[in-house]
Amino acid sequence: MANSLIKLIKDEEVEYVDVRFTDPRGKLQHVTVVADLVDEDFIEEGFMFDGSSIAGWKSIEASDMKLMLDVDSAYIDPFYAEKTVCVHCSVVEPDTGEAYDRDPRGTAEKAEAYLVSSGIGDAFYCGPEAEFFLFDDVKYSNTMNKVSFEVDAADASWNTDADYEMGNMGHRPGIKGGYFPVNPTDSAQDLRSEMLSTMKRMGMKVDKHHHEVASCQHELGLIFGTLTKQADEIQKYKYVIHNVAHAYGKSATFMPKPIAGDNGTGMHVNMSIWKDGKPLFAGDQYADLSNEALYFIGGILKHAKALNAFTNPATNSYKRLIPGFEAPVLRAYSARNRSGCVRIPWTESPKAKRVEARFPDPAANPYLCFAALLMAGLDGIKNKTHPGEPSDKDLYDLPAEELAAIPTVCGSLREALDELEKDHNFLLAGDVFTRDQIEGYMALKWDEVYAYEHTPHPVEYQMYYSC
Ligand code: GLU
Ligand code: MG
Ligand code: MG
Repeated sequence: MANSLIKLIKDEEVEYVDVRFTDPRGKLQHVTVVADLVDEDFIEEGFMFDGSSIAGWKSIEASDMKLMLDVDSAYIDPFYAEKTVCVHCSVVEPDTGEAYDRDPRGTAEKAEAYLVSSGIGDAFYCGPEAEFFLFDDVKYSNTMNKVSFEVDAADASWNTDADYEMGNMGHRPGIKGGYFPVNPTDSAQDLRSEMLSTMKRMGMKVDKHHHEVASCQHELGLIFGTLTKQADEIQKYKYVIHNVAHAYGKSATFMPKPIAGDNGTGMHVNMSIWKDGKPLFAGDQYADLSNEALYFIGGILKHAKALNAFTNPATNSYKRLIPGFEAPVLRAYSARNRSGCVRIPWTESPKAKRVEARFPDPAANPYLCFAALLMAGLDGIKNKTHPGEPSDKDLYDLPAEELAAIPTVCGSLREALDELEKDHNFLLAGDVFTRDQIEGYMALKWDEVYAYEHTPHPVEYQMYYSC
């Protein structure tokens, strides 16, 4: 196996090896090694680094950590001037060689191993759909402030005064007007094509790209894959999108709700479990699902509020999870409507049978997000947690008292952290997540909650300055 990386280095005359890993918040990190040094011993022994400067990892007194290269993940970097091969790594304790329990990629690997040991399945497939916004690099902050505070969502089907201040809006999509007129209304065709072609050249499996509903909002299609590999793909997806946008003088963002009054940014996660080469989720229950699939949904809905801490991990995430913008609020499931947390996309093929969690967003650490979803679903299967009746009506058309009876997702990151504190045993099964890891993660996220809660918000000046 090590040989494949060494061969690639020789064949492609590679100058550098970029070893990459993901921190608890989900940001891809890297350190670059001269390629001549990367031989079989290097790959076997791993690469030592100081983990104390990574937020949420070790303290300064016990800072040594080791990166183990996953040679199967190697790809040539499309942006660096010098020929560089990138390799995703998992983190291990240098003395014992055991997985470091706060390493998100290690958690994803453990979740896959737990699935196998549970006997329920042998492969967990994830198909994430991460959306994003593109803004002009130089003026985006001004633009966003104007749009954010001047748009009235109720009658925002056409351009606003704020839009006109930005120039001629004749061929620009208005609020919720982006899905999906051709160019010149869609002005990012070439940019998205270049993003997708770049991904293809890196060996990623991609299928499509399009403008999304909000103005300046986009989505590229990745083909599904198994948990850890697919989380690697999301890291590459974000990396390519950020860097191609940057090369065009644009700025891409995956923050969940950059514009008030227009759709936010989701990362729906399509999921299925397979066993012995057969799809476990296809059956003869509601929407041609199996009982296992229904119980999986039951587990997701039961633990959704604790899951929010991983699937919607930003204070900004909860500005997306409101009614009226194709993002879910209610803990309900359906084959049809998109207003619940879980949808069963229509398909005739049992092989394509899957459930779609609609609440996650791409601020999530993909390794922790997919692993936590799997653990909630497996908990549902083990305990035969039935999800109740499906909700096939538009949930927001229900009479107020019926609507009030349906449980919701969390309304804030503060609430999600409190829920995770109360409900995390399902994550600890098989030591996939650990108590220490969850504590470390929550400490990072409480810092974000306090930073947010303690900072005056621009809209408060509008509402209260003249009080
Ligand atoms: N942007 C929507 C969200 O926040 C999703 C739109 C879609 O169905 O693709 O989840
Ligand atoms: Mg979408
Ligand atoms: Mg979707």
